[in-house]
Amino acid sequence: MSISKSQYVRGLQCHKSLWLYKNNPELREQPNHSQESLFETGHKVGDLAKDLFPNGEEIEFDSNNFDGMIRKTKELISDGTKVIYEATFKEDGIFAMADILVRNKDGSYNMYEVKASTQVKITHIEDISIQWHALSKTIKLNHAYIVHINNEYTREGALDIDSLFSIKNVTEFIMTNQDEVAPQLLEMEEMLNNTIPDIDIGKHCSDPYDCDFRSHCWKHIPKENSVFDIAYAAGKQWTLYYQGIFSIDDVPKDFALGKNATLQIEHHKSQEIKIDKPKIKEFLDTIEYPINFFDFETFQNAIPRFDKQRPYAQMPFQYSLHIIHEDGTLEHKEFLGDENADPRESLAKQMLEDITATGSIVAYSQGFEKGKIRDLAELLPTIKDDLLALNERFVDIAHPFQKKHYYHPKFKGKYSIKIVLPTLFPNDDELDYKKLGSIQNGADAMDTFANLHLLKDKTKVEEIKKDLLAYCHLDTLAMVRLWEHLKEKVSL
Ligand code: SF4
Repeated sequence: MSISKSQYVRGLQCHKSLWLYKNNPELREQPNHSQESLFETGHKVGDLAKDLFPNGEEIEFDSNNFDGMIRKTKELISDGTKVIYEATFKEDGIFAMADILVRNKDGSYNMYEVKASTQVKITHIEDISIQWHALSKTIKLNHAYIVHINNEYTREGALDIDSLFSIKNVTEFIMTNQDEVAPQLLEMEEMLNNTIPDIDIGKHCSDPYDCDFRSHCWKHIPKENSVFDIAYAAGKQWTLYYQGIFSIDDVPKDFALGKNATLQIEHHKSQEIKIDKPKIKEFLDTIEYPINFFDFETFQNAIPRFDKQRPYAQMPFQYSLHIIHEDGTLEHKEFLGDENADPRESLAKQMLEDITATGSIVAYSQGFEKGKIRDLAELLPTIKDDLLALNERFVDIAHPFQKKHYYHPKFKGKYSIKIVLPTLFPNDDELDYKKLGSIQNGADAMDTFANLHLLKDKTKVEEIKKDLLAYCHLDTLAMVRLWEHLKEKVSL
């Protein structure tokens, strides 16, 4: 058997996943944009962490010549090389690459695995345990460490990589885990020598990772209105599934679920739309003119680029603002930061100018916008009070949907704007996110802006900026239309 570290981790999650990976890889789903972006981040962080142990020798990756990589590693080890990056081994059928290997004076090695996360996770221990199992057959290992991002670090001037990274000695955990590796490998080997294992879907399909064979294994689950579409069911979907109930239509009347899930099922079955006019009117009466419909977009960097930036901090770089005045006039204002500079200060200052001095500020799920404003206030002491004063004026237009004062069966128990909007405005091109350009959701905006400074093609940069502006514009226009819709409903 030949198995890599990632395949071993896959096998620990589900034997069937490993079997399919080895025998029917064509059934795998392709990684989505966010997953690709995570891989990218992992590579960047891995490269930077090498500077913690400088002047090492790197084993260049060559997918056509793994044997050459293994041979080169052996040569460097016999030469007594102090630091080796991507040291490559194949032992006991396991193909393993150690991110950083550091030789001790007594000829033993310490192994460092780099993770872009901000803490050590159990899956990291499993991952490094199989490395240890393979490497310890060739070299004497002394300690194993996980190198991960320290999210307490705040950049000030040049990047301080010793502070950016935390190094955790996990040798003790690895040793405890070692007894389990050989039997696990044996089980996997036996399993791979047989026909596909008979494993049903279960919680393991998304724990610890979303399995990429779901579209194959979950074929028997209805695409629409399955029990897995019940929101806030606290895992009871699995109880229903194991009772042979796959569709919401078949959920027994007396099956105990929470208030929200029960309401979802009742409205699904009756197809009744609930509109509690007095409650919605009460909510609308809290909104004062001029009404500022406001939305931020943010980006994150694992490795901070600017002073006073922490790893993975959500950095506002853009906003859209639609203002409705009492006479019915609608105006639009917006801000999009320079991708090559820290956008926070200029954004905060323009925001203070653009938002009207009085009136409500309306956001969809206001906690996010208010949280970012608090961060900006902390960053910018000279305008702190003005920024914090904005937070006193927020009204959350998600409220009537969140509280189910307005409920439509097509909301499927949820209240995000990406579900509410197309339900209430079907076939409306003006409000259709799918009709936008390259940016169609917040994750697209976040990932794209985070990497925009790396793009050399200026025409492409301008195109992307237009798409970013169009996306954020739609977020606030959507709120305007929702507000108008709510007003219309209560006046009928
Ligand atoms: S979808 Fe679930 S059952 Fe199928 S291979 Fe993946 S984890 Fe296993």
